[in-house]
Amino acid sequence: MKSRGTKKGDEPLSKRPHLEPSLPTDPALYSGPFPFYRLPSQLGCFSLDEQRQYHGDARALRYYSPPPTSSQGPNFDLRDGYPDRYQPRDETVQEKLDHLLHWLMEHRGQLEGGPGWLAGATVTWRGHLTKLLTTPYERQEGWQLAASRFQGTLYLSEVETPAARAQRLSRPPHLRELMYMGYKFEQYMCADKPGGSPDPSGEVNTNVAFCSVLRSRLGNHPLLFSGEVDCTDSKAPSPEPPTCYVELKTSKEMHSLGQKRSFYRYKLLKWWAQSFLPGVPNVVAGFRNPEGFISSLKTFPTMKMFEYVRNDREGWNPSVCMNFCAAFLTFAHNTVVQDDPRLVYLFSWEPGGPVTVSEHRDAPYAFLPTWYVDAMSQDLPSPPKTPSPKD
Ligand code: GDP
Ligand code: MG
Repeated sequence: MKSRGTKKGDEPLSKRPHLEPSLPTDPALYSGPFPFYRLPSQLGCFSLDEQRQYHGDARALRYYSPPPTSSQGPNFDLRDGYPDRYQPRDETVQEKLDHLLHWLMEHRGQLEGGPGWLAGATVTWRGHLTKLLTTPYERQEGWQLAASRFQGTLYLSEVETPAARAQRLSRPPHLRELMYMGYKFEQYMCADKPGGSPDPSGEVNTNVAFCSVLRSRLGNHPLLFSGEVDCTDSKAPSPEPPTCYVELKTSKEMHSLGQKRSFYRYKLLKWWAQSFLPGVPNVVAGFRNPEGFISSLKTFPTMKMFEYVRNDREGWNPSVCMNFCAAFLTFAHNTVVQDDPRLVYLFSWEPGGPVTVSEHRDAPYAFLPTWYVDAMSQDLPSPPKTPSPKD
């Protein structure tokens, strides 16, 4: 990473006393070599059911079941069932990290990595890391991340910005339908059982989710994060998670070179960041026509997405994304020093500016629930005592 305004060459601007600390996001500052990123491994999983209730198993996992390859291509009607067979999740409920914390509370005694691994880690959702990766290139939507340190671990939880809230509350009907269409595509492409067939006659209920919990490391930052997985491919060349997982996306049919360029520059960046983080090897795209039908499918291998912009001066660079994310994690670790689940540092970013920080205590920003703090402060429940040869 290039220097960003150091005094004697060793003291970063963000650490000099009496200056509001901030982190710049200009891509040019992060164009060094690709940083270390540990091969992501799955630690476990959980499911959320039709009522958004947590289950510590894979009951919501679905199975990749693409249509037989025909000369005409698929003809999925993504508008079918809207709005009568749509059960959208209640977006007014801010779940924060709760489901991931539920998993962590139940598995804290069996975590790999040795004693103290969790104390050095950052815990968050994959989607929050995706936003960090794309920040140097994002020109439209800002973000806010709340951060607390507890028992050494750094927790990051997104806060909805006022602009995002205003957009959600005034979402035009055609955007609501477009959101449905993305989920409807998943229903056309997935079966509930291995070897089964999709059933597009049922309801689309977006409360249901299967989440993978992963371990990785970016530079010297151990990571524990969870991400929603669309489906698993029983025929994948590498059948273990996360390499058996498939991400499903829809996008507008492209006709002109200009439409393709902008797809590679903006959409593929988001697809790459989201799937690269958990090590999901393929994104299967369905291209929809103006009438809302999927007319063709194309598989984009995650590790080949950068090739589409490698020679584009206005393209994105994976090194910039990962170096910025690493710099943010260092910045956050250096800012959130006090270990206190009620103390929150709010990191805020708007396009064109640096990441800034403000300090808060308790409501409304504190996000680690008392049930979690209390459980983590208790001794681990000891396993049932089995007689040993000495007894
Ligand atoms: P993604 O990468 O943005 O899809 O998000 P994650 O995979 O990290 O998902 C984290 C959790 O947030 C999962 O329980 C998802 O079901 C949920 N989630 C994903 N997108 C949204 C959203 O737009 N709004 C809300 N409220 N929850 C979401
Ligand atoms: Mg998807």
